[in-house]
Amino acid sequence: MRALLFFAALATILPAQTLDDKIAQIAKSLQPLLVECRRDIHMHPELSNNEVRTGKLIVEKLRALGLEDIKPNIAGNGVTALLKGAKPGPVVAWRADMDALPIDESTFAAPYKSTVKGVKHACGHDAHTTISLGIAETLNQLKSEIPGTIKFIFQPAEEGVSGVTDYGARLMIKEGALENPKPNAIFAFHVASNVPTGKIAYTDNAASSASTGINITFKGRRAHGAYPYQGIDAVAVASQCILALQTIHSRRIDTVNPSVFTLGTIHGGDRRNVIAETISLTGTLRTFSESITDQYEKMIRQTLDGCTSAMNASYELGFKRGNLPMLNSPALNKAALPVIDKALGPNAALSQGPGLYGEDFSAYQRVIPGTMFFLGISNPAKGITAGLHTAEFDIDEDALSIGVHAGSKILLDYLTRNAQ
Ligand SMILES: [Zn+2]
Ligand SMILES: [Zn+2]
Repeated sequence: MRALLFFAALATILPAQTLDDKIAQIAKSLQPLLVECRRDIHMHPELSNNEVRTGKLIVEKLRALGLEDIKPNIAGNGVTALLKGAKPGPVVAWRADMDALPIDESTFAAPYKSTVKGVKHACGHDAHTTISLGIAETLNQLKSEIPGTIKFIFQPAEEGVSGVTDYGARLMIKEGALENPKPNAIFAFHVASNVPTGKIAYTDNAASSASTGINITFKGRRAHGAYPYQGIDAVAVASQCILALQTIHSRRIDTVNPSVFTLGTIHGGDRRNVIAETISLTGTLRTFSESITDQYEKMIRQTLDGCTSAMNASYELGFKRGNLPMLNSPALNKAALPVIDKALGPNAALSQGPGLYGEDFSAYQRVIPGTMFFLGISNPAKGITAGLHTAEFDIDEDALSIGVHAGSKILLDYLTRNAQ
């Protein structure tokens, strides 16, 4: 493994007037090292709950910085650490996620493409980790002027792990990430492929949706393909049920409530000339409220009961509630907007509506107020336009130092305003 101690090359602070100027200057000077760090993580992506190398890299860099109370292996490969300012003040947390996705990027043209076949940082968590390390670096250089403490939270398994009950943010909280000391608020960035580099979007209140994992298994009876009446055709049962299930959204849920019910996989059957006994489906349900999720659960069962009994088949339904909606604090947003505009220029902070994606940052927000900002990384002039979770996804790396600059200022502003 090549040397990772980019913090060894500490940025030099030139004479500067204000703390704001110093932050801007340090963030800018870190840019080459941020690019190196992000590419290193990008080339060595690790799936959820396998972030061993990434976790070690984070610990090494935090130790090199001299941060305090560095705790590795929380919730698997998670890490927390404290940056204690010299002046008294509150505690604020900054969260980054660490895991990659099972997406192959072997056709990706960049020289820093993944060295792990079938695994890619397609959600920008490589950038989140890098930016958090950069914020730690920046504020650490200025800690004599900082009132209060920053708790850095590096979290594994945001993308989810099947077959495991607790992982990611919920397990980090269970294992004490928000205790000793308890932060008063928490912030995070997520890169956004719909936001241009140099801008940061925000959403008040519900920003992401509740997500529920759906598993349906239809059970029929196997028979010779030439004698379907002797069996119960699970393919025909599944086909009828899939179409009937689509009418829940289109005909039964109040149309003012946005939701999406997607069945993403279907598997089953043995052979072209055998009546299929079993068909399995998996899918996801996204809503902005628990009561709408409750309605879906009831209606999915009603539909499957009716549809399968009409064809003398049976079914099993798995309905696994996952992430809650992310509820971003309007008060934290409101305070941060002028800070973002001051750092990145007029109208750098953009309001945006909610999306039906899942994000486990929502778990921290059930314990303390928090907000996630959406960091612009798109740059059509550089051909960087692909969406998250695609094989072509990339970030405009100029966003790294921009993120360090804005993130450092958001944290410092929070601490300063709440220091009395
Ligand atoms: Zn993702
Ligand atoms: Zn993500």
